[in-house]
Amino acid sequence: MEALVYKKLKHKQVKCQVCPHYCLIDKDHRGVCQIRYNHHGKLIVENYERVIATHIDPIEKKPLYHFLPKTKVYSLASVGCNMRCPWCQNYQISQISSKRQLNKGSIIKPKDHIDFVKQQGIPSIAYTYTEPTMYVEYALEVMKLAHQEKINNIWVSNGFTSIETLELILPYIDAANIDYKGNESVYKSYCLGHEAEVLNTIKKMKDHNIHIEITTLLIPGINSDYEMIDEMIDNIISVAGNDIVWHISRFFPAYKEQNREITAYDDMVHAKKRAHEKGLKHVYLGNV
Ligand code: SF4
Ligand code: SF4
Repeated sequence: MEALVYKKLKHKQVKCQVCPHYCLIDKDHRGVCQIRYNHHGKLIVENYERVIATHIDPIEKKPLYHFLPKTKVYSLASVGCNMRCPWCQNYQISQISSKRQLNKGSIIKPKDHIDFVKQQGIPSIAYTYTEPTMYVEYALEVMKLAHQEKINNIWVSNGFTSIETLELILPYIDAANIDYKGNESVYKSYCLGHEAEVLNTIKKMKDHNIHIEITTLLIPGINSDYEMIDEMIDNIISVAGNDIVWHISRFFPAYKEQNREITAYDDMVHAKKRAHEKGLKHVYLGNV
């Protein structure tokens, strides 16, 4: 499948526009995510239609607490991510280091998801577990069919998505949960992303009247100090207002962060208290 948003340049080089990495990719090379490949000057999406996970979850697991509460959601994922968080809980399917990993998963036609969801009477589909921007071409096909059948689309993402991609997907998204990891130093030092683009995605979704909830994994020594917590709260309020839902999730050792401590319960409570003091109305603690 040819990528939806990219530019063809001289000497068969391409510029991918799917995410803010905006990779310049030489002929026969891949972008940062390893998913997109320059095949003789044409940008190819190599995980297209390959689904690595499907599951039926309670919507509260996404987490979404203020959208279709107590309903079920059908979740799907293809491999890949444009970030490199060392604490990633889904690293086996988000971090791609070989072509072999790209061929994992089953080929599922978009309509097959819709038929299943209709048959089960499930009101929404979530694009989740990995980073849906990495399989946006496929997700968009499923999302368009879902809307034809009045099924809701839920985007669960790290928010590191380009303007070009957002323009394509925003009309089809009904609700989203966006990960907000900390200030720019966190994104730069650990995640291979940037804070400004993530906040911009949240703002754009809010401007499009998409129901958004934000999740922050509170990690000791990374984003749990009191100054950082205040900074995150201020930024959330400045882009999304006081009504936004903020989930503060407790860290447990995962992937490359096996030796880091579990988040202290007192730090979780402190973050929630500060959020309320600064005016956030809906704050929830997760994994406590
Ligand atoms: S999706 Fe992002 S990381 Fe992947 S090739 Fe495109 S710009 Fe690069
Ligand atoms: S953004 Fe999410 S999926 Fe991607 S590496 Fe980070 S935690 Fe994993």
